[in-house]
Amino acid sequence: MQKKVPERTCIVCRKKGEKENFIKIVCNKNNEIHVEKDKKLDGRGAYICKNPECIKKCIKQKSLSRVFKRNVDESVYEEFENEFSAKQN
Ligand SMILES: [Zn+2]
Repeated sequence: MQKKVPERTCIVCRKKGEKENFIKIVCNKNNEIHVEKDKKLDGRGAYICKNPECIKKCIKQKSLSRVFKRNVDESVYEEFENEFSAKQN
């Protein structure tokens, strides 16, 4: 039996795809927002595709604040940006 792959939707462009193509941002029980890296994080997740345009738009439009309905610290966006540029090298 084939395993069903859950689809994720980019919060910026609304494109759907497999989770490997997305960066996951998690808001945990303490309302701390982190970029999910190697370790799995608990909490509400938002997905953004690994597309420089979406990353830029997300940071510019503060999309995370909208999705999590809270103020997202600038450092989260920085972490996000750094994490993404690191992966490209
Ligand atoms: Zn996207």
